[in-house]
This record gives sequence, C-alpha cells and structure tokens, in this order.
Amino acid sequence: MINVYEYIKNTIVSLMPSEAQITKIELEGPEIAVYVKNVEAVIKSSDVIKKIAKTIKKRVVIRTDPSVRKSEKQTREIITKIIPKEADIRSIEFDHTLGEIVIKTAKPGLVIGKGGNLLRKILLETGWRPNIVRAPPKETKTLTSVLQVLLAKSEYRLNVLRSVGHRIHRSPLFKSTYVRITALGGFREVGRTAILVETAESKVLLDVGLNPGAASPINAYPRFDLADFDITSLDAVVITHAHLDHCGLAPYLFKYGYEGPIYTTKATRDLMVLMLQDLLEIAERENKYIPYSIREVRKTLLHTIPLNYGEVTDIAPDIRVTLYNAGHILGSAMVHLHIGEGLHNIVFTGDFKYCRTRLLPRANDRFPRVETLIMESTYGTDYLPPRDEAERELISKVKKIIEKKGKALIPVFAVGRGQEVMLVLINGINKGLLPKVPIYVDGMIDEVTSIHAVYPELLSEEVKESIYRGENPFEAEYIKKVEHRDERRAIVDSDEPAIILATSGMLTGGPSVEYLKMMARDEENALIFVSYQVEGTLGRKIKDGQREIVTFTPEGKIEVLKIKLKVFSIEGFSGHSDRRQLLSFLNNISPKPERVILIHGEESKVLALANTVRRMGFEVHAPRIMDSLRVA
Ligand code: ZN
Ligand code: ZN
Repeated sequence: MINVYEYIKNTIVSLMPSEAQITKIELEGPEIAVYVKNVEAVIKSSDVIKKIAKTIKKRVVIRTDPSVRKSEKQTREIITKIIPKEADIRSIEFDHTLGEIVIKTAKPGLVIGKGGNLLRKILLETGWRPNIVRAPPKETKTLTSVLQVLLAKSEYRLNVLRSVGHRIHRSPLFKSTYVRITALGGFREVGRTAILVETAESKVLLDVGLNPGAASPINAYPRFDLADFDITSLDAVVITHAHLDHCGLAPYLFKYGYEGPIYTTKATRDLMVLMLQDLLEIAERENKYIPYSIREVRKTLLHTIPLNYGEVTDIAPDIRVTLYNAGHILGSAMVHLHIGEGLHNIVFTGDFKYCRTRLLPRANDRFPRVETLIMESTYGTDYLPPRDEAERELISKVKKIIEKKGKALIPVFAVGRGQEVMLVLINGINKGLLPKVPIYVDGMIDEVTSIHAVYPELLSEEVKESIYRGENPFEAEYIKKVEHRDERRAIVDSDEPAIILATSGMLTGGPSVEYLKMMARDEENALIFVSYQVEGTLGRKIKDGQREIVTFTPEGKIEVLKIKLKVFSIEGFSGHSDRRQLLSFLNNISPKPERVILIHGEESKVLALANTVRRMGFEVHAPRIMDSLRVA
C-alpha cells in the first residue's frame, strides 16, 4: 500500500527547484504547505506550483521559513513603501504561526496590484504572506471579533489543520464500492436539515440545522440518536448557508466529541458566527434551552475551513467537495461531492434561488458530473408572482399604510430578506414611488448588512459595482438603526408613519415579536410578511388566520392580545425557487442527474413535486427521516 503523505512529499521535493531550500512539508487541512527559505526561487519558476498541484492533485501553499521573515517594524515600513496611500490600509496584523499578515484595506484592488504583483512583492521583500481583507464601510463587531479569535488561536487552528490534513490523506483501508445517503433531518419537513453521506471509507455530514418551529427536541434536532451514527467518526461537515435550519446545530457536534473540520464559504462562516451568537443571546433572554454554549460556537469558528466557489477540495480519502453559488443568501452554496475517483457524484442544492434577485446572482446549474441530485422543495407546489410584481405590491401596501399615518412592520430574516427588502424600499423612495419616511432597522440586520459590504464579489452586478465605486447601496439618511430596546416604544408611539424591519422573520422571538405586541391593537398599522413561514411558528399561525397572541403583562399576568392590525403576506421575495424555477432548474441542469432526492419541503409539497419530477423521467425519492438510500 502506498503512503499518501510520503508520495506527496517525494513528488514535491523532486519537482521543486533545489535553490528554493525546502525546510518542511506539512499537511494543512486539504492543502499542502511547503515551507521554503528562498521564496524568490519559487516565484521565478512560475509554473512549478501549478505543475506540483497538477501532479499530486492537491492545492499547494508556499510558506516561508520563520528565519527569512522580516521583523514586524521592517515589514510595516516595506508595506508602506510598496502600497499606494489611496489604498487606505486600516490595519496590518501578524500571524506568526502561519507566517501571514492580514491587511485590512478599503481598496483591496490597490493592495493586490495588477495580476497580484504587489502581493508577490510584499511576500518577496518581507517574507510574510499577505492576506487581504476588505474593510467594511462601517466596522462590524462580528468581523472584528472573528479576525481576532482566528489570530489569537492561530496555533490551535494550525494543529486542527494538521490533524485534518493527516485524516484526509490517510491511506484508505477500503476501496469505495458503495455510497449511502441517510436522512437525519429536513426530509418531508422544513427545518433541521442534515444529510449523512457514507462510503466504505468515509462519512460526511451535509448541513446540521435545527427546526425553529418544533416544540420538542426530538423534532427540533437531526436524528443523531440513530443506532449506527457516531459524531466522532465523521470525516467532515459541509454547511450550505448560515440560516439556522442548516447550521444551527453545528456547535452541538463539538460538544459531543467532534474534532473535525467544517467546510463552508468565508461569508457563511462570518454570518454563522453571528447567527449562532444571536441564537444564544435570545435563548438566554427568553429562557429557551439550546444544547451548547458560546464555547462551542467559538470552536465551530476555529474548525471552519473556508472555501471559495469552484475550488475543488479533498475532504476525505475518497471524497472531493466543490461549492457553487446558490443565489439564496450571501455566501450560500450548492455542494458537489465527487466520490471514489469517478464512482459517484452528488449535488445538494441547499436552499437555492434559480433567478436573479436585487441582491444576488442566480444559482449555478453547471456541474462537472452529477448522478444524484438532492434538491430543496420549499415551494414545490407554489407559483410565486414575478419579482417586479412583488416589489410593486410591497411598495403599494406600504404606501397606503403610510398615507394613513400607520406603521408597517416587516419581519425579516436578518440574513437575506432584510437586505433585499431594504434595497427595494430604498429604490422605491429614490424613484419617488414611496414617501420619504424613516425606515427603522432592528435586530442584527444592520450588522449583517455591513458583512455584505465586505463580500461585493458575491453580490449582484448592480450592488457589486456600487460597492466598487465606493458607495454603500444599503445606506440612506432615512435608514435608522435602532440601537437600544428602549427606543422601540417611542418609535411605535410616535405620530409619524414609519417602516420597521425587524428580526426574527417568522416571529419566533426577538424584536419583531416585541413590535408586534406594541402595534397589534392599532388597526392603522400593518404586519407584512415577505418570507416563508415555517409550520408551528407564530408567523405561520398569524399568516393562517390566528388573531390572538398570548403574552405576559409586566406583572407576570397572562394576557390575550387581540390582533387588530392588518396582516398582509407578499409572496415573491422568497430566496427559494418556486415551482416554476425548481422545474426549470431540473430542465437546465447540466449534466442531467439520474436520480432526484427531494428535501426541505412540507410533506404534501414534496410528494406532489415528486410526482411531477417522476413524469419528467427522473428516478425520484422522497425519503422520510431515518430512511437510508443506497445511490451507488
Ligand atoms: Zn435558507
Ligand atoms: Zn432552509
């Protein structure tokens, strides 16, 4: 049997020019890190890295031996000389473990230079590998603390990467002869998405969510209690996006012994940290039980290995993952798994939008190969109105409320709908379709919006271009951030009409519920739903006609609050594909899968969609939770 690590080392040593002076070769997660004393020799023979990567089919990163790194002081001076002043560098931080510097700048393009020439210059002259981070227009607590934690725990992270690297590159004991998929959560329901993919050699978990509407843990968490499921034996976890029904239980894995990696995009990593922290804060305030603490959230961050769209990455001896844009929320991904050198290919769509939105480009539909497609079915039987129609309806509803001096409460997910609706309202006001009234933004929306501005390359052409021009498309003088809870009463009591965007999007807690309680009695006010309401949530109940809420008075007495405000629901803003888009995705996806497995939809919708998809000629499955299916 060949030793994979030995083979990699020998190949690199034989291909690398000897002047490079290799000092060590390490496995760092899915990447191979080559430490050299003479980085110039590597850069000079420009295609040597490509050649190595092609030969060993791995991503290679060149690091410098600590002995050739300049001091912090010298490095800062050199960078000041190399980088033009207009780049507006905000900070330079040193990661001594990895030999990297994190440069935070308002204008990344000016630091990177043409074809990356300035980055190469920095590496050559200082011995430090530059890592560029875009500074947001407004500082965000989340990004600052993510960066701080990553830098402070760099050594811990390197150890994680090394052990992950050795696990990925272990010599396989078994040849991959089968692939099995087990439905742990999110099948014939919306919420707690979790899919186990197993081969003879490896186990990978796709998403690890919780169900926001479930009353008991047995329905709220994926079924990790299955007899043959063992958290510690997982090779990897891949997370499609930062909504809690896909990532909300990631920290739980670490509480129960998981020490492996979480693969996701950088944007999802940042948003996920924010969402998980917020979940814990709200749970504490509202006395709800969450089966982990902030310690495990931090561990989730430290074990996350960020991937770019389109980057092919080994995550187990016989499994490669590639992420593709899903068009659902910032950083959302479709997951492509290539298993056993051609044995089988799986695409999991996650939540996806097969249509351009104001915020994001349309989901990807081109894959290298796919035999099994696991597709979401949220709107499996529903046709949503076109987006421009939805926009017109929102504008006209809000306008009527404002003209009668009422207030419009729009519960939104902090991530996705919040920004989309903001863009629609800003556009409406700019075009004079809507009077200029204050738009109050409450909950984490503002923080999340700032995170969007850090990843313009992931956003729609229009928004991206505006950020590249140095504008902030999410800002206007009438957008007002609600800083403290005590401000809410004054906003509701004021005579001025207003629009209020508040989390949570399904009235499961947080400011939107507080506003609703304060606004419910006044029939001039309106509650406008713009997103999907999961069964069991207060949002769904009100949408379905419930007009009372049970609350507690400040004295602790139970009170039944009659809902008199108007309730509207505007379909069409959803970040999910509707029936038409799901079917058109199936028509366009290339290559055509043999088999379609439906997930993430209420039972009746999944079953109805299954019938249609079967008639299109696909083999279709609608597994129940705890079902397993052999796909190869
Ligand atoms: Zn989602
Ligand atoms: Zn979802």
